[in-house]
Amino acid sequence: VSYLKKPLDSAALDTLRINLSVRSDKIASDPVCDFCGNHTPVVVYASSRMSTGAIRQCWRWTACGMCEALVDTDKWTAMHRRVTARLRKMLPPHMPKAMIELAVSVTLEDFHKNVVRE
Ligand SMILES: [Zn+2]
Repeated sequence: VSYLKKPLDSAALDTLRINLSVRSDKIASDPVCDFCGNHTPVVVYASSRMSTGAIRQCWRWTACGMCEALVDTDKWTAMHRRVTARLRKMLPPHMPKAMIELAVSVTLEDFHKNVVRE
């Protein structure tokens, strides 16, 4: 399976920055990898559904080079570990492990459910 993606060139990055500036649910004002939080995303994957639930195709998940390699080779166990490690760093240390695991599963399931396959 391969997933529909395009490189994040400067025009695509500018579009993302404009979108981020009007959305309050994003932590960073600059585009980051939606999987691991890396500050140099290189591609963006297409979704058949917006995060609002509306059904229409859009460019949705950004990925850094490492996450792109994991996605494109379907290394989802490694990806799960990578995203978990990111959340552990972002969240307070007392956050229950089960809650973090659940958050990662929900994020990755959302990708599997809505990503556009070629
Ligand atoms: Zn990444």
